[in-house]
Amino acid sequence: MSTIKKTAAELAELFASGEASAEEIAREHLGRIRAVDGDVKAFLHVDEDNVLAQAQAVDARRAAGERLGPLAGVPIAHKDVFTTKDMPTTCSSKILEGWQPPYDATITARLREAGLVILGKTNMDEFAMGSSTENSAFGPTHNPWDLTKIPGGSSGGSSAAVASYQAPLATGTDTGGSIRQPAAVTGLVGMKPTYGGSSRYGVVAFASSLDTPGPMARTVLDAALLHEAFSGHDPMDSTSIDRPVPPVVEAARRADVEGLRIGVVKEFGGDGYQPGVLARFREAVELLESLGAKVVEVSCPHFGHALPAYYLIAPSECSSNLARFDAMRYGLRVGDDGTRSAEEVMALTRAEGFGPEVKRRIMLGTYALSSGYYDAYYGKAQQVRTLIARDFDAAFEQVDVLVSPTTPTTAFPIGERADDPMAMYLADLCTIPSNLAGNAAISVPCGLADEDRLPVGLQVMAPVLADDRTYRVAAAVERALQDRWGGPLLAQAPDLTEAVK
Ligand code: GLN
Repeated sequence: MSTIKKTAAELAELFASGEASAEEIAREHLGRIRAVDGDVKAFLHVDEDNVLAQAQAVDARRAAGERLGPLAGVPIAHKDVFTTKDMPTTCSSKILEGWQPPYDATITARLREAGLVILGKTNMDEFAMGSSTENSAFGPTHNPWDLTKIPGGSSGGSSAAVASYQAPLATGTDTGGSIRQPAAVTGLVGMKPTYGGSSRYGVVAFASSLDTPGPMARTVLDAALLHEAFSGHDPMDSTSIDRPVPPVVEAARRADVEGLRIGVVKEFGGDGYQPGVLARFREAVELLESLGAKVVEVSCPHFGHALPAYYLIAPSECSSNLARFDAMRYGLRVGDDGTRSAEEVMALTRAEGFGPEVKRRIMLGTYALSSGYYDAYYGKAQQVRTLIARDFDAAFEQVDVLVSPTTPTTAFPIGERADDPMAMYLADLCTIPSNLAGNAAISVPCGLADEDRLPVGLQVMAPVLADDRTYRVAAAVERALQDRWGGPLLAQAPDLTEAVK
């Protein structure tokens, strides 16, 4: 029997009981990658020999009686923003093409230690800047629900890999929505932990005060298992929180909302939102009420300013972080023929190595940080950030969690917004406030929009360090909706092996 459509929890059980070896599971997933990834293009790098060697090593550890983690034997797709000492790490940028890091990110190391098998590195928007994966220097990834549509971004290779059953799990990073938005538009669960709850060590930096690694999966429980497997304090990350990981697996199993106070964010909805998205969102809210939650409307008056504040803060941090790509230390070096100065080589390399969106952000950020403008732009944006955090604080005095649609629209056609940065940025309207405030937020599938039969996500936001609460609510929604649908939402997606033939 094939292991391809099994959840990570099911695969882990097959491995633990000895019914399947890590190698068998890995071989089947490699076969699936061969069958469908020519069309989906989720992976940038898959080295089959390396994957099989990892799987055999996990099998050997089990045979030797080693106690492995609860996800041992399970394959995972790894976003190409995490350093991996045995695989290239490019962040989908030409400037890092062929770069092989000398060390593993903390999260990479924890995956290995827990006995997961890394299938390969997934495509993304260059340096995680984007919402569609079209900003990859290596070409776009396609949404398994409709190959002409975007899979979201920046973790679009990860979302597409999991939604097309190439992997049961994937890693992502979320700076402004890059886990939740791709999860929403491909019918997956994607979770942004509390900032500092998951390690940034070895995650190539985009905007350090916002970057947050997190799990992507086909079920809430799988996401929680992965969350627990790689989270927790890391002394190598100066902003890592030294507190126990919230009990997310327990919460995912509990899956009830009885007596919980749920706030609907008044500011999210209306103009610019797809009617089919709002319809599924309203039904999800009614469902929560029918499950015993107490639902109220809550106003977060400054959320409307989150997007402009983010587009000053994130580019500012990016312009500083990306200064390290100086043609000397990593990857690409252009024009170093002995006749040019270091500055000239640096300029030529950065001009050729960075794509247009990355250059736009570096210029925006350098401008916002320049003396004379700093207070008016970066300083002002930081003040707005504080107001948004206070909106959350006030809301969480009245309710236990907040809910909204994850994205204003479903997956849009590849190419549609590629030349319109503003339209692209709007994809993260509902997700950005939680990045600015640092609190926990999850996206869980809540149905298909009537207009296009594409997935819609429900976002559940909880206070800082109450990550477990987002899983509890998402799991309750998942259970109730799967009863209604007679199975997972993804079962309604086209069968790619037929669709691509
Ligand atoms: N789409 C947003 C951006 O382009 C968020 C990206 C992210 O979360 N990495 O910045």
